[in-house]
Amino acid sequence: MSDSLNAQSISRAVILGAGTMGNGIAQVCAQAGIEVVLFDINDDAVATGLANIKRMLAKAVEKGKASPEDVAATMSRLSTSTDLIASCAGAQLVVEAIPEKLELKQSVMAQIESAVADDCLIASNTSSLSITKISAGMNHPQRFLGMHFFNPVPLMALLEVVVGEQTDAANCDLAVELSKRLGKEPIVVQDAPGFASSRLGVCIGLEAMRMVEDGVASAADIDKAMELGYRHPMGPLRLTDLVGLDVRLGIAEYLCEKLGDRFAPPQILRDMVAAGKLGKKSGEGFYKW
Ligand code: NAD
Repeated sequence: MSDSLNAQSISRAVILGAGTMGNGIAQVCAQAGIEVVLFDINDDAVATGLANIKRMLAKAVEKGKASPEDVAATMSRLSTSTDLIASCAGAQLVVEAIPEKLELKQSVMAQIESAVADDCLIASNTSSLSITKISAGMNHPQRFLGMHFFNPVPLMALLEVVVGEQTDAANCDLAVELSKRLGKEPIVVQDAPGFASSRLGVCIGLEAMRMVEDGVASAADIDKAMELGYRHPMGPLRLTDLVGLDVRLGIAEYLCEKLGDRFAPPQILRDMVAAGKLGKKSGEGFYKW
C-alpha cells in the first residue's frame, strides 16, 4: 500500500461487471463520494446496470433515505464504459463482479494489473472462489483481496473482507476502513472455502432442501421455522429462490469438493435446476413468483 492511499483518500474506482452485484457496488461507492466507472463487456449490461442504480436511488428518495440532491450528486460521480484500459486510468480501487469462473477472473486480473498503478487496491466480489487462486498469476498479489458484498448491495450491511495467502496486512486494514466508508459492517475472514457466510448459509439451505425432499414440512413452514424460531429475516428456501437454484448448486458442488459430503447437493436441487426451476428469476423455485 502506498503511504498516501487510505480509505478516505480513495477518490476513483472501477467496478468490473455491471450485473446484479456490480451496479450495487458502483452505487455504494458513488454514494460514498468516490468517482466510479462501471465497466462491462456488454453495452446492454451497462445500460441496465445504470438504470438499476437510478431505480434504487429513486426508491431511497421515496423512503426519505436520500434527498434529490444526494441522488444528483451520486449520479454525477457515476460513468459507464466498455473500454477496460481507458476505465482503469487513475483508478485507486478496482472491484470485480464478473461471473464466478476462476479462469475468467484470473485473466481479467492480468489485464487489470497492466492498466493500473502498482498500489491500486484490487478486490474480488467472488462468493466462493479462492482469493489466493484468483491472484495466482498476479505480479502484486499483496494488493489483492476479497470484498464480498451481499445482494442487494445498497441494503445489506455485511461485507466479508477475505484475506488471501499473499494479501498484505495493511491492505486488509485498508479494505476494512473502506468498507466502513461505504456504510458496511466488515468482518475479516481467511481464504477458506465458502468464507464465513456462504459456508454457514449454504449448509442451512441444503439441509432445508433435504427436509423438503423427506417430506418433513412444506417449504413455507420450514422457512417460517427459521424466521419465527430463529429470527432469520428470511427462510433458507425463499433465500435460495432469490439467490438462484443454479447459483446455489454451483456453490454446493464446490464446497462438497473442498469440504466434503456434508455439502453434497440434494437430488431435489439437481432435479429442479435441470427442470429450469431456478427460483425468482425463472418464475418458480421452492415458491411460485
Ligand atoms: P451477473 O451475471 O449479474 O453479472 C455479471 C456481469 O459481468 C454481466 O453483466 C456480464 O456481462 C459481465 N461480464 C462478463 N465478463 C466480463 C468481463 N470479462 N469483464 C467485465 N464484465 C464482464 O453476476 P452477479 O450475480 O453480479 O455476480 C458477480 C460476482 O459476484 C460473482 O463472482 C458472484 O459469485 C458474486 N456474488 C454474487 C451474489 C449474488 O447474489 N448474485 C452475491 C455475492 C457475490
